[in-house]
Amino acid sequence: MLHLLGPIAVGAAEKVSPNKARARDFYAPNSEDLGSDEMRVIACGTGMPTTRAAQAAACFLVELGNGDKFIFDIGSGSAERISSLQIPYDYLDKIFIGHLHADHFGSLAEMFIGGALMGRQKPLRVWGPNGRTPELGTAYAVQKMKEMYTWDLAGRVGLVDFRGYSIEVNEFDYKAENAIIYKDNGVTIRSFPAIHSLDGPVSFSLEWKGLKFVFGSDTYPNKWFMEYAKDADLVVHECFVAVPDLVKKMLFTPEQALLVGTQIHTSPEAFGKVMSIIKPKHAVAYHFFKDFDTTAAVNDRIRKTYDGPLSLAEDFMVWNITKDDIRVRMAIVEEHTWAPPLAGEAKVPQKGDTEKYSDEMGVPLDKMGYSDFIKEGRSGEVDEVLRETYKEASEMLGQDFPYPGDEKSETK
Ligand SMILES: [Zn+2]
Ligand SMILES: [Zn+2]
Repeated sequence: MLHLLGPIAVGAAEKVSPNKARARDFYAPNSEDLGSDEMRVIACGTGMPTTRAAQAAACFLVELGNGDKFIFDIGSGSAERISSLQIPYDYLDKIFIGHLHADHFGSLAEMFIGGALMGRQKPLRVWGPNGRTPELGTAYAVQKMKEMYTWDLAGRVGLVDFRGYSIEVNEFDYKAENAIIYKDNGVTIRSFPAIHSLDGPVSFSLEWKGLKFVFGSDTYPNKWFMEYAKDADLVVHECFVAVPDLVKKMLFTPEQALLVGTQIHTSPEAFGKVMSIIKPKHAVAYHFFKDFDTTAAVNDRIRKTYDGPLSLAEDFMVWNITKDDIRVRMAIVEEHTWAPPLAGEAKVPQKGDTEKYSDEMGVPLDKMGYSDFIKEGRSGEVDEVLRETYKEASEMLGQDFPYPGDEKSETK
């Protein structure tokens, strides 16, 4: 029967052309306009704390039809995924961190420094929870990250456009329940407590034009999520690897697997239970390694307790959300990307950048730059070939680029 039905079905439609383009069902970044009341969510990391090439750790990008973009968690490896989307970095200046595990903010430095290098011309803005002591809060983590990169930044300041090499922290109370932590341009973002590892973790909701997106960083199933994630269109919640696979694949002891897989994190069965209580328009499970031999167990266990719409997330899964529809596709992206277009005009380093940095970080001005010892080690052997490069650039661009060190003698 089937082989008879096949040709009839094809025959009823227009004949397939051997050489004409056909519509494809994937998302190619920057090839589609976003509707004025449409939200697009892209998974830029869906994995675990243990790194792997196939999946980055937690990161979800939310793009809104009003032009705003928000990043929720910036786990290890996610900056590379973001770079594949080729979005100007000025538009990627708002990062919300749900908790301070490395798999949820391990790529912050790459967005801070790499993002500036790839064209962000304004400070990076970070929102994250406080902790039970100042040392356990987001502001402390970000300040220490800045200090950790003192050598890096001291070497760049004065040489590059330094406008993007600063970071602003907005720390808020992790105990606040459904409190507004961001409100601008019609977008409201709220935070509510989560239960994971130590006090401090939170979940977020984003509301805009009647659409609601909820992002759970890590958590044991909690009452706040069940209450404040209600009426959401897309609900992203962690869903850990099934306990037997934690033993088999992660080489955990059974005791460790049970503790980590059901008490510190949300097990697939518990994820399903949470979703059957919230009843989102569409549920998204992430935070498990999605392999041919582990996905079925996650799915089967979720389906014991939840039968609603569901995505088992992997990197570059895309959800287009409007009032009437949620469309799920995969993005096909480039890996060999360079910097995306700039959103604003490029500038040369500003006078005073170095002095400002020296003041702020306490690095003596006279120790920034090379010492005489290092300067004297520069080889003169390459002078001639490098002079040629300057000459070539001057001729090509019709502008005089004096060779370093020659400027003084020429003006004398
Ligand atoms: Zn965690
Ligand atoms: Zn995690």
